Amino acid sequence: MLHLLNPAQRAAVQYLDGPCLVLAGAGSGKTRVITQKIAYLIEKASMDARNIAAITFTNKAAREMSERVGHLMSADRLRGLTVSTFHSLGMRIMREEARHVGYKTQFSILDSADAAKIISDSLGTTDKQLIRSTVSRISMMKNDRISPDKAILQADSEGELHLARIYRVYQDTLQAYQAVDFDDLIRLPVDLFEQNEEVLKKWQHRLRYLLIDEYQDTNLTQYQMVKLLTDITGQFTAVGDDDQSIYAWRGADMENLRKLQSDFPKLQVIKLEQNYRSVARILKCANAVISNNPKLFEKTLWSDLGVGDPIQVIECKSDEHEAELVAMKLLAHKFETGADYKDYAILYRGNHQARIIETALRTHKIPYLISGGQSFFDRAEIKDILSYLRLIANENDDPAFIRAVTTPKRGVGNVTLERLGAYAADRQISLYQAVYEEGFIWQVQGTQYEPLKTFCDFIGRMQFRAPREPAGELLKELLDAIDYETWLYDSDEPKPAESKWKNVLELVQWVTRQGEEKQRSLIEVSQTIALITMLEGRDEEEVDAIKMSTLHASKGLEYPHVFLIGCEEDILPHANSIETGMVEEERRLMYVGITRAQRTLTITYCGKRKRAGEWQITEPSRFLKELPADDIRVSGRLNGGKAEQAISKSEGRAMLAGLLAKLG
Ligand code: ATP
Ligand code: MG
Repeated sequence: MLHLLNPAQRAAVQYLDGPCLVLAGAGSGKTRVITQKIAYLIEKASMDARNIAAITFTNKAAREMSERVGHLMSADRLRGLTVSTFHSLGMRIMREEARHVGYKTQFSILDSADAAKIISDSLGTTDKQLIRSTVSRISMMKNDRISPDKAILQADSEGELHLARIYRVYQDTLQAYQAVDFDDLIRLPVDLFEQNEEVLKKWQHRLRYLLIDEYQDTNLTQYQMVKLLTDITGQFTAVGDDDQSIYAWRGADMENLRKLQSDFPKLQVIKLEQNYRSVARILKCANAVISNNPKLFEKTLWSDLGVGDPIQVIECKSDEHEAELVAMKLLAHKFETGADYKDYAILYRGNHQARIIETALRTHKIPYLISGGQSFFDRAEIKDILSYLRLIANENDDPAFIRAVTTPKRGVGNVTLERLGAYAADRQISLYQAVYEEGFIWQVQGTQYEPLKTFCDFIGRMQFRAPREPAGELLKELLDAIDYETWLYDSDEPKPAESKWKNVLELVQWVTRQGEEKQRSLIEVSQTIALITMLEGRDEEEVDAIKMSTLHASKGLEYPHVFLIGCEEDILPHANSIETGMVEEERRLMYVGITRAQRTLTITYCGKRKRAGEWQITEPSRFLKELPADDIRVSGRLNGGKAEQAISKSEGRAMLAGLLAKLG
């Protein structure tokens, strides 16, 4: 086992005398240290897997880590091992301890759309920008552990006071719905740990060794969770890279790396210097770019995987041309080298850049998977069904109630719903509860009341059965009962309706598997889904397809060949970041992008780009000028040359058709 590691990695794995921080650049094997250390703790230190928790940043990373550890030892010895994100760990704690923080076990988890709706209602506005900034400021306060009360006390301007009051209303609403948002999943357990010694002890006893990946992106609350859990023993290993901190907008704080050193004076810091991922040229480019940021820690990184090809930097005429060019270069490269589709990734700053690439890939029949984009669980038809599951889990979840009671339409008019809302608000009860109250029943006509009551009775019956019956079967029955398929076809064209129904069936399959393999009840499944939606998609089967991903979602991953597109001012670095002076974070994002590549890297940018229907002249990203001239091959303005000769669409198609024929 230990022979798979270099001496520094081995030292990190074997160190058990106290807290340990592995601080090192991209691709240096930090994540490998974590997987190996899990195996080491069980095999050599005779720890019970149940007492070990590895925390990763995304669900995907968690899955991958479980898999990797699974290769190292038998499933038997791994039983009970926790490999999860901070949020799923928080959810697990909440499920067990909900009553201590004023929630029932079957609380709901609100998604960001529902959260935005509550904020929008309390602000009395539909101004998206305002809603978004309010949501994020509240989230920041939560992550900084500022309660509504404290926010109100601290406010020193009219604006801040207003914000603090909105925060208070928002929090009260969540409580009334018996719902939590993503931030609460970590904040509430931390509050609880601080207030309740007994509960804290229980969890400290249970999770005796913590391993944390991507430590640079933890926020204050997450840090405090680690600190509380490891308080006595200080038994943890954190790994991270300050140059890859890219979640400041979500409250992540690189300073947590430094704080670790002051909070744990006995902290053992181990640095890794060999990169096992990328050829030297790619690494040199990455190092060159990041050297323009001020340094928090001194680090060096080298690789002996060969020099590699120069990094290609290509100017394209327009975004359409860029998409076409990437598709073409990719196919040509695949033809030359015999690589698989899955060896390629196309990375970009924002989701909106994906659409045009998708079109080009689809035209040329190149299979692709998108991660970090609109998730499966964000589709309207899926959210419809999930609203039922949420309501079954928690009848006080009002946003879910509204969605479910109106989808499919069941003869409950808007006026009735408004009356129900007013009645419930007046008495501080949920919509579901209000349906059964005399006071409300008197207010509505029988024809309006009947469908409401039928609906609530149905939910009630499902609630009773959910903990007892197989999740998949029950979901099928639910779909039959609400006749969702018919409704889809009635309310949409046949083609989209068919594809929506297919998605629903896929959900049924997924839920069935969750029920069978993980013994999850319908209620537990619905809570699990809420978490999946937060960061990325669900399990994807291993298929031969190229990966499209935002830079954020590509963290920790690696691909033989990477295309990094849209390297222009205002995109990377993002316009907002330029305005607010956050260019350093964007540079780290660029660093993350470059360091995903193992063997080849192609960077593209456009001369002009269509925005809101208008052509705009664009400038190459400032980061491109930071690349070392000797290691890149440029075509375009960057070195005063011309943009890559644009290929007309028909020429392109003909060339590709030829290539595809050869590829078989
Ligand atoms: P990132 O900062 O991007 O998360 P990382 O530091 O976590 O990167 P890993 O993903 O653990 O790096 O490792 C990068 C690659 O190098 C992986 O393919 C891994 O299997 C390989 N690797 C790590 N350590 C060694 C080693 N000692 N010998 C051979 N290969 C290694
Ligand atoms: Mg890693």
